[in-house]
Amino acid sequence: MSCHYDYVYKVLSRRNLWGIFYVPTQPYQKDKVLDVHRIHLLCGAYSGIELLSTLKAFLKEEMIPDEKREEFRKQTYTRQDNYEGISEFKRILNYFVSYDFREQLIDKVARELNYVFHTSEFYVPVEKLNAMQLSGNLIGSHTVSHPVMSKLTKIEQNEEIENSFSFLDSNLQLNVKTYCHPYGGFHSFNDDTVNALAKNEVVFSFNVQSRDICDEDLTSAIHFLPRYNCNEFPYGKAS
Ligand SMILES: [Zn+2]
Repeated sequence: MSCHYDYVYKVLSRRNLWGIFYVPTQPYQKDKVLDVHRIHLLCGAYSGIELLSTLKAFLKEEMIPDEKREEFRKQTYTRQDNYEGISEFKRILNYFVSYDFREQLIDKVARELNYVFHTSEFYVPVEKLNAMQLSGNLIGSHTVSHPVMSKLTKIEQNEEIENSFSFLDSNLQLNVKTYCHPYGGFHSFNDDTVNALAKNEVVFSFNVQSRDICDEDLTSAIHFLPRYNCNEFPYGKAS
């Protein structure tokens, strides 16, 4: 996101530090804000109750895969204060609804609420990514569309990894191939992901796990190295 260039990169440079920035490539290829970010933006702009009732007007049960329906009925239509509304809205879109319908549902909710997303202001432009890399930062892959990879087939997972690297490599000439699992945590990827990373000659990858990296990780966990969730840092809390 643009704030990583405007703030993070500049603070790092001022302190003679560098970082690794993991980039989902779909916004550059499709000129559309990622679903995961559109959900965040909507949650920042409207109340949970308003979002939930707008979403439910468009939601049909067949948009939820069979194996999730029971759980959906149990976990939704619960208490509805603001906070509950927000988590329910996110839970439906991120977890229950099939990826076949998610994008169009978010389109409809945004249209209904007259919310416009601006891709060009939301993400760091390629030229600026290039400048970051030239001054010593690493740019890595964060897939194309930021899916929960464990929900995808082996072939779909490989496409997410391969296509994101080919975009980054042809636009930035990467020094090293590194990757970060979208969402993170051991539930968010599986063996197919790790095999695809090895097949695509990725050198190292990050997971989310609340501990430091140890020597052993470099041999046994090279494609799921631990990193802290920024929520755990002082002042890192997200609402
Ligand atoms: Zn992410």
